[in-house]
Amino acid sequence: MGLSNQSVPKGHQTPLKSEEAIRSAVKNLVEEVHVVDVHTHLFPPNHGKLMLWGIDELLTYHYLVAEYFITAPATITPEKFFALEKQAQADLVWDSLFIQRSPISEACRGVITTLTELGLGELVERRDLDGVRKWFAKQTPEGYVDKVFELAKIKYVLTTNIPFEKKETVHWYPKTKEFDTNRFHTGLRVDQLLTGNWESIKEALDEMGIEHTIEGVKKLLEKWITIIKPKYFMAAVPPTLEFPSDEEMSTYAPSTINSATLLRRVLLPLAEQHHLPIAFKFDSVRPINPALREGGDGVVTTKVSTLQKLCLNYPKVKFLATFLARVNQHELCVLANKFGNLHIYGCWWYCNNPSIVEEITRIRVELLGTAFTSQHSDARVLDQLIYKWKHSKAVIGGVLQDMYVKLFHAGWSLTREEIQRDVERLFGGAYEEFMEK
Ligand SMILES: [Zn+2]
Repeated sequence: MGLSNQSVPKGHQTPLKSEEAIRSAVKNLVEEVHVVDVHTHLFPPNHGKLMLWGIDELLTYHYLVAEYFITAPATITPEKFFALEKQAQADLVWDSLFIQRSPISEACRGVITTLTELGLGELVERRDLDGVRKWFAKQTPEGYVDKVFELAKIKYVLTTNIPFEKKETVHWYPKTKEFDTNRFHTGLRVDQLLTGNWESIKEALDEMGIEHTIEGVKKLLEKWITIIKPKYFMAAVPPTLEFPSDEEMSTYAPSTINSATLLRRVLLPLAEQHHLPIAFKFDSVRPINPALREGGDGVVTTKVSTLQKLCLNYPKVKFLATFLARVNQHELCVLANKFGNLHIYGCWWYCNNPSIVEEITRIRVELLGTAFTSQHSDARVLDQLIYKWKHSKAVIGGVLQDMYVKLFHAGWSLTREEIQRDVERLFGGAYEEFMEK
């Protein structure tokens, strides 16, 4: 008996017939896919000044400020710069990085892509910064969220919510502000636990009248889980964090509450009990030049084995992870290939450059197929969603074209529907499948 049509999966009746047809389908599907942005620093409009948007925020974003200071005259020190009004800071950045020289870096080009996509190409052509400001002055925060989500093709974003920062918690406690939780999913950021920042933890405990103990920290986080209903915990892992041995843990005394204790006695048990994954970010070090403020953080190479130990010793806890150091990317992929409780996501900060995104995406697809999340924006300024996704999609789409063409030449026929299914996974579906595990 020969192969009947019934053995061909549904929807497979019209495979793409040529390399060109495959390239064109992949390009189009990646451009059109609506993404889940699994990590951002964005806030909804009713969180007031915490929501950053508009041309002056774009121009004074810390990537650009750091780049500006490479070019700034010695008379403009960081102190002087940060003492200026935001618009005056933006003027300096614009003049130095966009007028005195071409905005050729990734961060500068991002501003241009964003303005062009917003339909401000003519103002950009005339280098008319005031015209751009006038356009932004006519937007409302709510209307602008609609516009950006539509242009950037965003399904929803994950936000970063810090229970130890008063300027954030006032929007949640004692009274929670309502906002569009279909668009803004929350994440509970707990860096203070891993840095052992007991001073700021104590303030948060006092705010809610909770005792200063390990059990108290657990109670505090459980309250915040109830209040913000996070999808995951998130923390940047300090480069000094070593996975504590059981012996070290057994010598724990309440007077020595430290990051190891808070990780093992608070964060990991809570993650397991509440079925909340922990999203870790590795390899950043802060700050290597404090004068630059947010722009002063650097990259270090930490041990991927810290994550391996977590995945191995806590099989009931799910981990999301992204690494900042380029050299760790290969080892990370091998790790993700071994642990079902690990999901890797995005190309972050100093890795969010086309050359590196391309390299990382190739390694990931070759080792993991579609079982990872290809990108996240890490956007702090709403408008950045536009360029970060446009630029990333161009690179990731190019890599995928090559992969599908190789597969086609290996003898595997492909339909548009099959490629669409895979693309949706890489831009959010794989994350959702992991979260539902
Ligand atoms: Zn971030």
